[in-house]
Amino acid sequence: MSSGFDKFKDECGVVAIYDHPEAAKLCYLGLHALQHRGQESAGIAASDGNSINAYKAMGLVSDVFNEETLARVPGRFAIGHTRYSTAGDSALLNAQPIVVDCNKGRVAIAHNGNLVNAADLRQRFERNGSIFQTNADTEIVLHLIAQSREHTIPDALADALRRIEGAFSLVMVTANHLFAARDPRGFRPLALGRIPGAEGQRDAIAIASETCAFDLIGARYERDVKPGELVVCGAEGVQSRYFAPSAQQANCIFEHVYFSRPDSLIFGLSVQKSREEMGYQLARESPVEADIVVPVPDSGVTAALGYARQSGLPLQFGLIRNHYVGRTFIEPSQKVRDFGVKLKLNPVRELLQGRKVVLVDDSIVRGTTSRKIVRMMRSCGAAEIHVRISCPPTIAPCYYGVDTPERRQLIAASKTVEEIREFIGADSLSFLSLEGLRAACFDDPAQTRYCTSCYTGKYPTDFVDLHRIRPAETVPAD
Ligand code: SF4
Repeated sequence: MSSGFDKFKDECGVVAIYDHPEAAKLCYLGLHALQHRGQESAGIAASDGNSINAYKAMGLVSDVFNEETLARVPGRFAIGHTRYSTAGDSALLNAQPIVVDCNKGRVAIAHNGNLVNAADLRQRFERNGSIFQTNADTEIVLHLIAQSREHTIPDALADALRRIEGAFSLVMVTANHLFAARDPRGFRPLALGRIPGAEGQRDAIAIASETCAFDLIGARYERDVKPGELVVCGAEGVQSRYFAPSAQQANCIFEHVYFSRPDSLIFGLSVQKSREEMGYQLARESPVEADIVVPVPDSGVTAALGYARQSGLPLQFGLIRNHYVGRTFIEPSQKVRDFGVKLKLNPVRELLQGRKVVLVDDSIVRGTTSRKIVRMMRSCGAAEIHVRISCPPTIAPCYYGVDTPERRQLIAASKTVEEIREFIGADSLSFLSLEGLRAACFDDPAQTRYCTSCYTGKYPTDFVDLHRIRPAETVPAD
């Protein structure tokens, strides 16, 4: 899904299975469906009713797990995680689930999101002598559980969740229970489903960041875990409680723009539908006389489809993506212009030559990749290139679980639309309006339920965690 360059980076994916004889295997399959949300590490922790075992390693889900490694995590309930680092370095020690033995027993936890008060809490713990084994903000939750005065794990977890701020969709497993919780603003998605049991058997419960994970394991989507809700699965059955009252909603609208797969329901809404609506809306707001509509694959495809339908122009795949590009590639000593982009995308000369093109993409972060794509298409003879972006200009970094460059590296933070157009060398450039984006995501015009901070610079939490933003020199080049 991710095109992997000049984009906000995907966050993490979590999955959990309760009460199934092949819990770890289903987790593995669920993680496979969520691979687009994080490609750096993968892990599973499972309980066999007595103890918790975990296995995690750097790499893709299919690299990390096989019959042998899956056999190391037996049990009827399991949690899984696929990671792209947003907080903490990318190293095995930060891979999740994180497993600890504390005064309340053995606990494994996995988290998607970013805690905005993590640095502050960690400093306080460290001042009092606590020792952390990772750099991940998720570990804070374990320390809060250990130090809670509550005696039971569900109460201690609810107590811990009340003390953290920011974005979290998390799953946790103990010897006897499986938990799922979502922050009161509902930043990141978390869906709950059911796998029908074989005759005479109980249904199993499935929880995942995106519903596309359910399809692969035969789970039926039931509902989202609600903001502020803690779901507790155990011998008592499946129970729901609220650790905090739900706050003003701040569902991440960028999940619909870019992160999530079109075959998922996110915040109860089909991503295919919202993304197509973005394309319709974009064509209504910014029509242009042209011959063809070309998407930047893969994430620009659905919005381009909407643009083409609304404008009546034919959709043509004028850029072909190579899906098999690894992390590093050896460049020939004689430098090839735009080598990095050419490795991943190649223009189709026969479709572009002499044509006026509407080029649809889902976002512009630094602008350097868009500039190279426009240049490549021109060198193939495109007569005109009109760039249309299916979201507003990205002007501010995210503090809620999405890896973004600093503000000064975001081209739209310092340049006007006309200046960006000039920089990327397009004949025209338009972004979808914020109102248009909200309408495409079926938002309430009177009171938004979405976080749109990266387009407005206005944040829904009282404070943000500036420690999370990485120094400029560590931001990967386009
Ligand atoms: Fe999503 Fe942007 Fe809000 Fe981050 S700032 S949660 S990417 S909408």
